[in-house]
Amino acid sequence: MATRSAEEYKTGLNDGRALFFKGNRVEDVTRHPDLGVGMEHASLDFALAEDAAYQDLMTVKIPETGETISRYFVSPTNTGDLLKRREMIETSTRLGGGVVLLIKEIGTDALFALSLVAKRIDEQYGTDYLKRVEAYHQHCQQEDLSMAVAQTDVKGDRSLAPSEQTHPDYYVRVVEERADGIVVRGAKAHTTCAPYVDEIIVLPTRNLTEQDKNYAVAFAVPANAPGLKMIVSPFGASSSSDFHNPVSSHHRMIESLTIFDDVFVPRERVFMSGEWDFAGGLATTFVQFHRFTAISYKPPLCDLLTGAAALIAEHNGISRASHVREKLMHLINYAETVRALSKAAAVDCVQIDEVAIPNSILTNVAKFYFASNYHQMVSYVQDIAGGLVVTGPSEEDVTNPETRDYIEKYLGGAAGVPTLERLKLVNLIRDLTASDFGGYNELLAIHAEGSLEAQKITIYREYDLERCKSLAKQAAGIGDNA
Ligand SMILES: Cc1cc2nc3c(=O)[nH]c(=O)nc-3n(C[C@H](O)[C@H](O)[C@H](O)COP(=O)(O)OP(=O)(O)OC[C@H]3O[C@@H](n4cnc5c(N)ncnc54)[C@H](O)[C@@H]3O)c2cc1C
Repeated sequence: MATRSAEEYKTGLNDGRALFFKGNRVEDVTRHPDLGVGMEHASLDFALAEDAAYQDLMTVKIPETGETISRYFVSPTNTGDLLKRREMIETSTRLGGGVVLLIKEIGTDALFALSLVAKRIDEQYGTDYLKRVEAYHQHCQQEDLSMAVAQTDVKGDRSLAPSEQTHPDYYVRVVEERADGIVVRGAKAHTTCAPYVDEIIVLPTRNLTEQDKNYAVAFAVPANAPGLKMIVSPFGASSSSDFHNPVSSHHRMIESLTIFDDVFVPRERVFMSGEWDFAGGLATTFVQFHRFTAISYKPPLCDLLTGAAALIAEHNGISRASHVREKLMHLINYAETVRALSKAAAVDCVQIDEVAIPNSILTNVAKFYFASNYHQMVSYVQDIAGGLVVTGPSEEDVTNPETRDYIEKYLGGAAGVPTLERLKLVNLIRDLTASDFGGYNELLAIHAEGSLEAQKITIYREYDLERCKSLAKQAAGIGDNA
């Protein structure tokens, strides 16, 4: 098996995994009305791989074996591979209502990072991690598995190191070494798609010192591993009404608090255990790939916001107003800057061990620009759309014969625009910007793939300031260049 159908993916999820949602144990995620929305959305990944229109983009044929595999598993070796990967992510997100699918994107980001760092660890410590990572990569590729990445620990007091916390389990750690593997304890927060993937890949989240050796751990387990428990978040779901929430009733991601209650990890699935001096490097190498994924999936949402704003301006008869044009220009500028920077990050990649790593400065600049301007862009859309976004009538009143005609008469807009279409557009804008899902999008923009400060630190640390300083010295006629 090298590619699976959407049905095969979904069937495989009914495996006894320990999920809890709103106070209840979820017996079968595939039949759950709320979690099922996330699963159906994610299953688009498999559907596209089978769709003649997208097969060439979503899959590749391995020349040696003739086998077709998901393109996500291809380690990028050059700019062309990275551009294809970003196109695949942007396209599947656009087809998914502007919501990234994220059941292979993030997992393969982790696999690429693990292979680069495992080699370094092996060179220093004589371990055999690279062999294990490669075998695991092959396994996921061959079985066409979906993966979540649990990197962000719950962290307790952010100013303290893992071993300085009030209890030792605020970061995932090794609690027992066995001949055939390790036992891990702790919890990771915000694990996207974890309730409906096959595998959970765990990575360290920060730099560590020797004192925190036991927290330097990376591994992979199936989502139904004994002791693995997920408390699933209900937030970000607005309603199941297609009318009220045209996007989020079909397309959304779901996160979990992912708890490792003494989970055994067999030796062959352990990719780091105790090599504290590589924990920070693994965390940042993963982030290099994952922020590139981020800036590849952001443009469709930007386009959706721009399109909705342009349409509602027409529906309200204000599309010629200069302030509206200016706001639309900002929205276009925003979307195209993120898109262009993501392409530039692929073009200006660096190659290490035959793996192409997206340009770090450009990737972080793009992610920071997107995140720090998102709320402003939402405010432009809301400004153009007007208050009806949060005061409009319900689906029930639109269909009730007693109220329908009033709504039809009084909530019309520019001549020729059917009232119902105008209301649907207003609902789209509420769904994207002012619903539970809209709020989720705002938090996603700021924190997912690392908070704003994380990008600032990377940009400052990695930028070649010396080049600029030397130019300034030359212009000023000081120092060596005088
Ligand atoms: C929708 C969503 C999906 C996500 N998906 C995933 C996922 O799939 N896998 C995964 O592993 N993670 C995921 N994340 C986690 C994401 O990477 C984190 O939210 C992000 O790194 C911030 O961590 P935090 O939420 O713990 O916030 P905090 O780290 O508590 O950050 C809050 C504030 O505290 C500041 N801060 C934190 N520590 C310090 C310090 N030592 N000194 C000074 N200031 C500090 C931060 O800069 C920020 O301003 C997701 C997050 C969201 C919102």
